[in-house]
Amino acid sequence: MTHIYLKPGKEQSIRRFHPWIFSGAIASMSGTANEGDIVTIFSSTKEFLALGHYQKSSIAVRILSFSQEFINQNFWNNRIKSAYEYRKTLGLINSSHTTCYRLVHGEGDNLPGLIIDMYNGVAVLQMHSVGMYKHTQHIIEALKTVLGDSLQAIYNKSASTLPFKAETDNTDGLLWGQVLSTEVLENGNTFVIDWEKGQKTGFFIDQRENRKLIELYSQGKRVLNTFCYTGGFSVYALRGGASQVVSIDSSQRAIDLTNEAVTLNFPNCNTHKALAEDVFDFFQNNNEKFDVIILDPPAFAKHNSALKNALQGYKRLNMKAIEQIASGGLLFTFSCSQVVTKEDFRKSVFAAAANTKRNVRIIQQLTQPADHPISIYHPEGEYLKGLLLQITD
Ligand code: SAH
Repeated sequence: MTHIYLKPGKEQSIRRFHPWIFSGAIASMSGTANEGDIVTIFSSTKEFLALGHYQKSSIAVRILSFSQEFINQNFWNNRIKSAYEYRKTLGLINSSHTTCYRLVHGEGDNLPGLIIDMYNGVAVLQMHSVGMYKHTQHIIEALKTVLGDSLQAIYNKSASTLPFKAETDNTDGLLWGQVLSTEVLENGNTFVIDWEKGQKTGFFIDQRENRKLIELYSQGKRVLNTFCYTGGFSVYALRGGASQVVSIDSSQRAIDLTNEAVTLNFPNCNTHKALAEDVFDFFQNNNEKFDVIILDPPAFAKHNSALKNALQGYKRLNMKAIEQIASGGLLFTFSCSQVVTKEDFRKSVFAAAANTKRNVRIIQQLTQPADHPISIYHPEGEYLKGLLLQITD
């Protein structure tokens, strides 16, 4: 196994359990490591620090364990079992009203580089590192052991998340089992999940709790759901008794999925309309007021280099939305860019509000749900930020 020695002082973040080693922290290596190999990390004074997956990128090592142990089938079984037991405490296992949840959330489950979303017994794997990819077989076996009969199938959806230049033989597809149904329940609402062609693993599971809040505030309201994708927020708003829901997404496929989701839950609904349109164009041309607006755009910044433009983008978008809310109305505004901190986001929304000169209050701060846990040692894991604002006058 290749040994990696860190530069003096660079062991400190590892001693505080941060799960990444940046390439600049490495002083030397014994031999060469191939992409995805397990490597052992030592301090400059040759003390053992951790075991992790090596990758040829700025995050050079993703840590699997801070103790000297074997990364064997038992290791994978234990990690997946503890992720599963934790979801049990959240009431997400065998729930009669929610059959989709995140089983493994990367660093938050001590498995950096691995995402596993469960859709009514179908596990959709998304591997972000070659190291995780190399352990696919171990992960399949662990899922079978831990989930037992409740596991229907395992699907690999890693083509878009494995490093661009990595040389793997990855092809997306079914790894095990048989898919009996693509329908899931989320808080009693039905959605059909397209993990083959959809974004992420097919559904934005991370908005489950925030969707519930929308339902709570929708009675008799005119609701605008922008960047609607599969229409999650729209379905909840309708169940909450909204008088009118308008869903917008620039992708026609997303609009079709939204219409399907609405019809599935409310077969004779005549209070919903979905438009395939750019949200910025919509705001430019619209002069109708809404009581509730949802802004859930894609990540405006994927890297730090794009941060400034992203913050401008959030400001522009939020300004438009604040202007188009009826007095007393609510704005649910989100950012899922990992590089945008909670403070950055709040400052952008503050700047947007100041430009409109309206009275804007934060009535709730929103984040990702408990099945997307954040290791306290890895604050970067807090990627979903949201504000619920009330706008008056
Ligand atoms: N709110 C959704 C997830 C949003 S994902 C949910 O709860 O599931 C972001 C969506 O924004 C994608 O569907 C993408 O097609 C759409 N999108 C990206 N840029 C857009 C733009 N400028 N105007 C409209 N939609 C856009």
